[in-house]
Amino acid sequence: MSMETLFTKIISGAIPSDKVYEDDEFCAFKDINPAAPVHVLLVPKKVIPEIGAAAECDEGLLGRLLLSANKVAEQLGIAESGFRYIINSGAHGGQEVPHLHLHIIGGRQLGWPPG
Ligand code: AMP
Repeated sequence: MSMETLFTKIISGAIPSDKVYEDDEFCAFKDINPAAPVHVLLVPKKVIPEIGAAAECDEGLLGRLLLSANKVAEQLGIAESGFRYIINSGAHGGQEVPHLHLHIIGGRQLGWPPG
């Protein structure tokens, strides 16, 4: 049986979301608590609990995750102005949902270093 997470429920539609992109392998939807004017989560449908749990067999998926993020950034109109991709991992990384996801954040000047 495959693992259920908050994000598998969003992907299946059991929990409503504002989806902006979907294909066979990934789904992207607006973050419910946006940190910037554009804040979307790009989530592989395969449940990988955190980036450190990715395996050799996920090599292709991880590459396609970044390439899909580029497509979504283009679609959201932030490709030219710039953006940030973030993957939080574990307690110190501030990860809340144990299902690998990439934050796509933009639409304003972002600060550095992150908090
Ligand atoms: P992380 O802290 O990296 O695990 O990110 C989890 C993100 O999921 C946070 O930015 C939350 O605001 C976001 N989030 C939590 N619940 C929902 C939801 N129902 N719909 C969209 N985003 C959500």
